[in-house]
Amino acid sequence: MQNDRIQQPAIMPNTQPSAPVYKAFRSSILHLLGDPGENLNTEQVEYWEDGLLLTKDGHVVTAGDAETLLPELPANCALTEYPDQLIIPGMIDTHIHYPQTDVIAAYGTQLLEWLEAYTFPAEQQFSDPEHALEVTTFFLNELLRNGTTTALVFGTVHPESVDSFFQVAEQLNLRMIAGKVLMDRNCPETLQDTPEQGYRESKALIEKWHGKGRLSYAVTPRFAPTSSPEQLDRAAQLLDEYPDTYLHTHVAENTGEVKWVSELFPENRSYLDVYRQHRLLRPRSVLAHCIHLDEQDKQCMSDTGTAAAFCPTSNLFLGSGLFDLGGFREHGIRVGMGTDVGGGTSFNMLRTASEAYKVAQLRGKKLSTFQALYLATLGGAKALYLDNKIGNFEAGKEADFVVLNFKGTPLIERRMQHTTTLHEKLFALMMLGDDRAVSATYVMGDLAFAA
Ligand SMILES: [Zn+2]
Repeated sequence: MQNDRIQQPAIMPNTQPSAPVYKAFRSSILHLLGDPGENLNTEQVEYWEDGLLLTKDGHVVTAGDAETLLPELPANCALTEYPDQLIIPGMIDTHIHYPQTDVIAAYGTQLLEWLEAYTFPAEQQFSDPEHALEVTTFFLNELLRNGTTTALVFGTVHPESVDSFFQVAEQLNLRMIAGKVLMDRNCPETLQDTPEQGYRESKALIEKWHGKGRLSYAVTPRFAPTSSPEQLDRAAQLLDEYPDTYLHTHVAENTGEVKWVSELFPENRSYLDVYRQHRLLRPRSVLAHCIHLDEQDKQCMSDTGTAAAFCPTSNLFLGSGLFDLGGFREHGIRVGMGTDVGGGTSFNMLRTASEAYKVAQLRGKKLSTFQALYLATLGGAKALYLDNKIGNFEAGKEADFVVLNFKGTPLIERRMQHTTTLHEKLFALMMLGDDRAVSATYVMGDLAFAA
């Protein structure tokens, strides 16, 4: 008999709550409880060499020592073992553009020219929902292959781009934040909306998707040069009407861009001040790059609860500049890490972290692997105001996690034989690792990718 011929039993009203599904994962386990700071301080690091992560219905019950927890596992709890590997929380990318997937690694330009030459032509194709769906599917699978389970994502100006994105993200049960770009000037006509149209289309997308499953909406003006003052005001109106949505944009990435903004908004003290004046700085506002900002700008971000997305591969690739992580920490500003694909050159957060380390070096600072992992997990969750849901393995959080392989490449495996401390081991993995170091990715306790 064929499966599709099997008679399904009539659906009965279910008065009994279904039995909880427990799953346990045995491996080395590491997560962060807070920002470990710039040195090798391990106070905020929790690590179990032989650890166990227990989940119930897709949420964390506990993480701890395997020997202690194994005898207490609930009956019928499935046990999956990853010997000699490392489980960490799912990584969080706080700034990425899915429509730029196909222009990653494009030669020879800095920001403004790069937008004209590569990005705007690529984004014009996203009025076609089929194209958007195909790119989304590739993009989300690429994130999962790289151990990224949550991202703050740019669409294009077309509402179709966001519909397609959320449709696939919902099917994969991913915690994702995205929005349609608002852009009413200084760009090709085919990529322009108007303040009213942008407001209306964003509102419809918010009503349709925000809070559905694990999805959230971000009001997304591309950046000050491509939005009129009227459009920035309409963006703030959306944030007022839907206070738990996000604001996602760029600021002070490139010196040419900063100069352009000073010409477009001569009355404002600084680039950041444009966003302040238009009431876009608030909790759940995330600004990518934040390179050319002064002390007053940083204080303003801190006072308003605005977060920064540090995008090192992009900042180096486009020659934009060196992010001042230490300065942002001193001001108590929330900072996450972003790949900024396609200005960034990798979907992988280990690669991104290794470039973040080099940016710190060029500023005469050190970025420990503990702090880099913090930025890629709990720090990102805090930047997105999602640390009550994701970012580490505290009880009750959503069980999104990654299994990292210390034998992912012959070189990593060889280098591991010459490490003694946990930090040495993690640092070598961070500097040498990429998607080949990810052996599995889990979403709400379910396997979503396996190498
Ligand atoms: Zn960007």
